Amino acid sequence: MKLILLGAPGAGKGTQAEIISETYKIPTISTGNIIRAALKAETDMGLKAKAYIEKGELVPDEVVIGIIKDRLAEDDCKNGFILDGFPRTIPQAEALDTMGIVIDAALSIEVEDSEIVKRMSGRRVCEKCGASYHTLYKKPIKDGICNSCGGKLVIRKDDEPETVLNRLNVYHSQTEPLKDYYKAQSKLLLVEGQEDVKDTTALVLKTLSEI
Ligand code: ADP
Ligand code: ZN
Repeated sequence: MKLILLGAPGAGKGTQAEIISETYKIPTISTGNIIRAALKAETDMGLKAKAYIEKGELVPDEVVIGIIKDRLAEDDCKNGFILDGFPRTIPQAEALDTMGIVIDAALSIEVEDSEIVKRMSGRRVCEKCGASYHTLYKKPIKDGICNSCGGKLVIRKDDEPETVLNRLNVYHSQTEPLKDYYKAQSKLLLVEGQEDVKDTTALVLKTLSEI
């Protein structure tokens, strides 16, 4: 299965991607995680992306399109993949089409802005492996410590409240139009993501089982 996950920042794309990845045995490709890893390793790409990511703005299309081209060429993508956080603009979606990548569906997780703001304030990430947690909804076993690698849990710089509002604006103006783009291709699936993670997961898996 070749799947795109759409939704506002904090809608739960990452969490659902993990579950779909295990269920369908396909890799998740998260441009956010790839960019953050590059930032940490201080590669050229990471340094270029730093200012954008920290302000909650989008990294330039040509940079992320390059990342995705390289990543999709890897062996583990042969049997399918989940794109988490890409495409985020119309030109990025057009680039996928130009690459000849035919996706099965673009699944959008629908959550209201007020709920997004609430969720983002509790979000924590492992500074070592990037795993994500939440102070209310997805607590680690040990406070402030990553379950899988023992790393320290921190607030992502772009999860600070002012930046979250900026990311929501960017989502509505640049990413949300992708819903119409995929609707026109009869690929759009909408899933209610407003309730508990397990409710959303059940809906996501049911929706995917029907395509
Ligand atoms: P979330 O899904 O919570 O918004 P991500 O980890 O997907 O966060 O992305 C974090 C940041 O990385 C974005 O705000 C943006 O700066 C950058 N980024 C990730 N994916 C893309 C993309 N496809 N196009 C442009 N910028 C991106
Ligand atoms: Zn970790």
